[in-house]
Amino acid sequence: MDALITRAVSEFSDIFGEKPSHFGDAPGRVEVIGNHTDYNHGFILASAIDRRLAVVGRPVDGETARVYSRTFNSGASFRAADPVKMKENPWVNYIMGVIWQLRNKGVKVGAFDAMILGDVPLGAGLSSSAALEVATAFFLRAMNGFSMDPIAIAVNCQAAENNFVGMNCGILDQFASAMAQPERLVFLDCRNLDAYSYYPLGSAVKLVIANTKAPHVLVDGAYNRLREACFRAARICAEKFPEKRVTHLRDVDPELLDACKNAMGEEDYRRAHHIVTENARVLAGAEALTRGDYKGMGGLMTASHASSRDWFGNSATELDAMVDLALEIPGCYGARLSGGGFGGATINLVESDKAEDFAQTLADRYREKIRIEPEIHLFKAGAGAGGGAL
Ligand code: ADP
Ligand code: MG
Repeated sequence: MDALITRAVSEFSDIFGEKPSHFGDAPGRVEVIGNHTDYNHGFILASAIDRRLAVVGRPVDGETARVYSRTFNSGASFRAADPVKMKENPWVNYIMGVIWQLRNKGVKVGAFDAMILGDVPLGAGLSSSAALEVATAFFLRAMNGFSMDPIAIAVNCQAAENNFVGMNCGILDQFASAMAQPERLVFLDCRNLDAYSYYPLGSAVKLVIANTKAPHVLVDGAYNRLREACFRAARICAEKFPEKRVTHLRDVDPELLDACKNAMGEEDYRRAHHIVTENARVLAGAEALTRGDYKGMGGLMTASHASSRDWFGNSATELDAMVDLALEIPGCYGARLSGGGFGGATINLVESDKAEDFAQTLADRYREKIRIEPEIHLFKAGAGAGGGAL
């Protein structure tokens, strides 16, 4: 048995005094390339990280579900048939949200006890929240014996986070957590989730995630403003060229965008330029990986950062510094901001045997330049979620 699950089993027994019967476990994830393409119906290459969250538990009589998080050293209980959002233990909302959404889909979940244990860094842009939701869903599926494929699980977990927890995340987090495979990136088509595919990312490279620890300013306002600029730009392209049947920027190529440039405002054009070129970079990245061309892939990642910075406007001084410093260090194929932007983390594609030195040097130089202690993690592309009987 996996070491994390073994530990979770023993923690469960300590708290609940019995042995658990089922488990679910799911990884955190990282967006490797494809920045803000999700709501534009575009493409993303993502990876699971080799850090996971496990949920182990057993069915019990009665109506009450009891959950305990080793990470928070706290527990809570709620009515399994009727979860209601709670303020005291906000982490329980991710679990209740999944149960609430399953019920919306006609799946009833009985009472249970469960232990949550994980090593996905929290709030570091690696989506520990999706790992918790997806691990919960895989656990409940194993324990209750309902059938639901991993893509449907991802979609329902996203709905749980959007509609129960109240966080407007895209599908990437849950999809990557549910669908990833080791030593591969998963290619995601946000218009058609069934059109996913995988590209090799072998042990010759590591993914280094460098959290800038910049004071986070991804205010909802800035995010929504970017979204609206993208939607406006797509609308203008649709009006000017109705025969192209544009609904989202996914349907726009660079020529079409330039033909519409004068019809849209400067800001909308710049935002659209990033999305249109970013989709092309994701497709080129998939091809580069097929050839085992990490240099090519890295170059596309660095170009993605420049596009986020210069066209989309969602970088930050700290992110730019982290990228610039990384590119000067031996072994780094490419570097870019990952996620919403305005702060948060960069992702670096680094030669495996240079990755430790790279991380150390990057931390030293960033600290010296920005006077903030960064948080740097090395990952391999890890496996997606699983679950079953213990
Ligand atoms: P991110 O998803 O980027 O890590 P979020 O704020 O979206 O950050 O989600 C973090 C939240 O997910 C935590 O505050 C907690 O509520 C929940 N969570 C994550 N990991 C655990 C865990 N091991 N135990 C309990 N709750 C967890
Ligand atoms: Mg999250």
